[in-house]
Amino acid sequence: MEKLLIYGAAPWEREYLESRLKTVVPDVALAFNEKTVSPTHIPTEVDATLCSIFVDSKIDETVLAALPQLKFIATRSTGYDHVDLAATTARNITVSSVPSYGENTVAEFAFALLLMVSRKMYEAVRRVRDGSQFNYEGLQGFDLKGRTIGVVGTGRIGRHIMNMAKGFGMTIVGYDPYPNEALAKEVGFTYLSLEELLKVSDVVTLHVPYLPSTHHIINAAALALMKPTAVLINTSRGAVIDTTALAVALKEGKLGGAGLDVIEEEGAIKDEAAFLRQDNTTAETLRTVLADHILMDLPNVVVTPHAAFNTREALQRILDTTIENIVGFVKGAPVNVVKP
Ligand code: NAD
Repeated sequence: MEKLLIYGAAPWEREYLESRLKTVVPDVALAFNEKTVSPTHIPTEVDATLCSIFVDSKIDETVLAALPQLKFIATRSTGYDHVDLAATTARNITVSSVPSYGENTVAEFAFALLLMVSRKMYEAVRRVRDGSQFNYEGLQGFDLKGRTIGVVGTGRIGRHIMNMAKGFGMTIVGYDPYPNEALAKEVGFTYLSLEELLKVSDVVTLHVPYLPSTHHIINAAALALMKPTAVLINTSRGAVIDTTALAVALKEGKLGGAGLDVIEEEGAIKDEAAFLRQDNTTAETLRTVLADHILMDLPNVVVTPHAAFNTREALQRILDTTIENIVGFVKGAPVNVVKP
């Protein structure tokens, strides 16, 4: 009999998974462990044959050695860099992920960030809430209608951004090394080179995966091409922007503002005490962490804690695909399998 261990699920996720899995795979014994698993939290469920984890777990050879009967891992995420695929392959363990769950969810959040910056929303709410002022002095923003939005990465999230931008009456331009001409026709936008896009856009929004080719795609040279009034939005990954260069551009008034859901070295910001205790911090990472702090304090910048994915509906879609992944494996037809 298969035994499925689900790690790190919130109570509502546990309830959701339990009720559905009992119906679709009644022969699988279910167990939940609210903790995560990692080399520092070695699992004790030696008889687990299947398991499900979130990105806060870390699977490597030490963890796998503690789960000798494991055949399948369903990660409740799109990314799978928290699973050592060389180790799972060596043990013939199949890994499935959730390829898509929240394109509209992330796009909606990117627009929320944009409106926060374009309408100075954070400062407006703050001054009313703390009772200091009830007036609109200094809160003048700008209309999105008629402005140009440059979408860098015209994939799943980029497509939703474009449709939302259309609703706001914006002119859309895109950049992607793999242009989707059918999408350009459907939405009615033009592909430009990255340089051209940066020059003409009033808003630049980033929707690229983090790859060696996208590392610091927005660096000092790219920022220098942008309009001094432009707003930069990033919901992709922190390291696609050179944080120090961004902090300098904003401080020097060479950029209008930024809305960032992801920042470089966000792990260090999350647990600063642990980060400072590490003895492998480099001058470069320290510089980046300092720049993160400078950004968080700037009045024309809004930083959120990697929260764009976090809606009830998106998380439910993650669970639905995870259930499909588990059922697929149990029934001998695995789906959404990740390749090393
Ligand atoms: P996707 O794969 O559908 O689209 C990515 C697009 O980027 C593709 O069209 C690809 O061709 C393009 N691309 C690749 N290299 C590029 C480059 N050098 N320059 C410009 N474009 C390039 O991905 P998606 O579903 O739209 O997600 C985009 C990213 O958003 C994810 O990789 C992830 O990092 C991030 N994300 C963040 C959150 C969050 O909570 N903040 C949630 C989900 C996804």
